[in-house]
Amino acid sequence: MSAPGRSGKSAEAAPGEPEVWLSAFRTAVHAQKQIFADHRDIEARSEYEGIGEGGDRTLVIDRLCEDTVFAELERLHADGLEFTAISEERGTVTFGDPAAPTRIVIDPIDGSLNARRTVPCHSLSVAVAEGESMADVTLGYVYEFGASEEFVAVAGHGATRDGATMTVPPGDGLEVVALEASKPERVQAAAAALAGNAFRLRSPGSIAVSASYVAAGRFDGMFSTRPTRSVDAAAAQLLVREAGGHLSFGGELSESSLGLDARYGFAAARTEADLDVLLQAQDAVP
Ligand SMILES: [Mg+2]
Repeated sequence: MSAPGRSGKSAEAAPGEPEVWLSAFRTAVHAQKQIFADHRDIEARSEYEGIGEGGDRTLVIDRLCEDTVFAELERLHADGLEFTAISEERGTVTFGDPAAPTRIVIDPIDGSLNARRTVPCHSLSVAVAEGESMADVTLGYVYEFGASEEFVAVAGHGATRDGATMTVPPGDGLEVVALEASKPERVQAAAAALAGNAFRLRSPGSIAVSASYVAAGRFDGMFSTRPTRSVDAAAAQLLVREAGGHLSFGGELSESSLGLDARYGFAAARTEADLDVLLQAQDAVP
């Protein structure tokens, strides 16, 4: 089976097949577009309501966007699927048998600051895993709302952007590198370490988008200057791997937990050599 494109018909897919999940995530995206349309300006998007399980303050739009995903998860559970959801705001929520291996790892808005400030680059990131580690992710889904692009990876079957196969281009060298969590003092240290090794830096503001762009060949590499949470990286790391790129969580993939408490130094690049350069720069960050 190839990575499903947009034309897939969920009605023909068996429960638990990628098309079933993708259909649910696309329904959530459709609902989220309406939420952003209903909260069009910075003021409307800047309302908060408490602290999420992931530790960040929860924006009303974060919660509304998460609700769209959970509405779909409720529906799939009603159809008989059993799984545990791990989500930025609600935390860990079990649907049915807690021993069921399937994990759904959700960042309803990756790039909340961009979304709040009406900067177009932000994403919905959802991973489906048949186990508890990054190595167990079988489906990665990232939808970027600025360009309205859909990135999908199916383990063992490749990665696609809007249905077209993505392969990391051959060759090495860091022409464009994305830095995430770009606090000035951390960027300063990272940039000093990259001087002479990278031509240009970008800071999109969404880890899932930056890593998806590595998979798409738009960036030669990316890294976060502070520890990344599972919800930010779970989907995009499969995109990078399925597109033929390299990445690091600072340890074995099979030891990198999908749990909400886990934190990693996350980096991705086209080649192993380029990844080494980025990891050195990441190490230089205080
Ligand atoms: Mg978020």
